[in-house]
Amino acid sequence: MQSPYFDHFETMSEEARARHQAAGLFQTIQNAYAKSVSAREIIDRSGVKPGDVKTVADLQKLPITRKNDLIDLEKQRLFGGFLTVPFEEVARIFISPGPIYEPLHAESIKWFAKSFWASGLRKGDIAVNTFNFHMSPAGMLFHEAIRDCGATALPMGTGNTEILIRAMLDLKASVFVGTPSHLLSVIKKAEELGHPWAEFNVKKAWFTGEMLTASMRHTLESVYGIDTYQAYAVSEPGGALAYECSEKNGLHFMDDYIIEIVDPVTGKQFGAGEVGEVVVTPINNPTWGLIRFGTGDLSSFVAGGCRCGRTAHRLTGIAGRVGDSVKVRGQFVVGKQAADIFSGFADITRAQITVERPNERDEMTFRFELRPGDCDKEALSKDIARKFQNLCLLRPDRIEYVEIGTIGEAAKTVVDLRRFV
Ligand SMILES: [Zn+2]
Repeated sequence: MQSPYFDHFETMSEEARARHQAAGLFQTIQNAYAKSVSAREIIDRSGVKPGDVKTVADLQKLPITRKNDLIDLEKQRLFGGFLTVPFEEVARIFISPGPIYEPLHAESIKWFAKSFWASGLRKGDIAVNTFNFHMSPAGMLFHEAIRDCGATALPMGTGNTEILIRAMLDLKASVFVGTPSHLLSVIKKAEELGHPWAEFNVKKAWFTGEMLTASMRHTLESVYGIDTYQAYAVSEPGGALAYECSEKNGLHFMDDYIIEIVDPVTGKQFGAGEVGEVVVTPINNPTWGLIRFGTGDLSSFVAGGCRCGRTAHRLTGIAGRVGDSVKVRGQFVVGKQAADIFSGFADITRAQITVERPNERDEMTFRFELRPGDCDKEALSKDIARKFQNLCLLRPDRIEYVEIGTIGEAAKTVVDLRRFV
């Protein structure tokens, strides 16, 4: 019988993973310092010796490099000065907006294969890959990952939906690879063309590029019978960072990276459950000396094992972007995450959080507009406070119900009214 795991790293003990990460990190920092001009400058500026970074906690001594820093550096030096091999060793170059040029050293990396394997892709599957095959790494890397799992790949790329629908029907494609919103639009288009979803053989979908919301997942799984999986990927540090297993309860960190959740202002690492910026250091990419890349995405992680047997921490999904967040009593409140929580309550039509600081203490007020009709406000308030605390680790100081029309249609979900003088 085939193993449910792609490699032995997935089930490492906590101690083995700490050793693996420390060894990979040490090697990565030494290599970057020796061979990447920009990495050496960043490490020297921080006053740290490359040999001082021996553990994941030691990474906090180094600054975070963000997309804008990378764009500036790319203007000064090819590959931002992060290339650690001679140019002729680069196998492919991808382009991200900026432009940021990303080198790839080998044709045989397995980052995404692990994620596809965890979603159950195997020989006998026919997978339609609807990601772009030019500039972005997505199309080609997913194509190789499908093949690494032994499945048959149908490299569709983006574009002609009618050809895609015809091919899915004719070839009895079993797996859809793309974004959730794209799959939903394909289903709708197929229905318009007189092909109800029951005619298709697609039983599984692998998504990245946008987060799969609970309502999208529910529609795809319950209404259309599609087993859905998602991965979190960022192209600048090199690809897949976290992926779902069959438990679908968070995205396992990939062992080819050190993933930190940090305070975006201080760069200090947070523990399990706290929301912060996802910061990434690839430790299995000898081409690229990029250390502590700040993704701008906000998330938290769950520590420890999972019923699937994988032992890596799990990312809880992307709560929002750094610019969309407000720090309240030491915790980030992310507008998008709060809006998602409130949208789960059918009685609420509009919602807003205001943060004030009347007596040197942050106070948070939730204001809601309700659908006309009877509603047990006391019970609703309790439910909201409990749900919010579970996900954001904070309780509101007060909950107010306001007249319809009080909260503007385009109003921000979180409004910071504090004045720090
Ligand atoms: Zn798992």
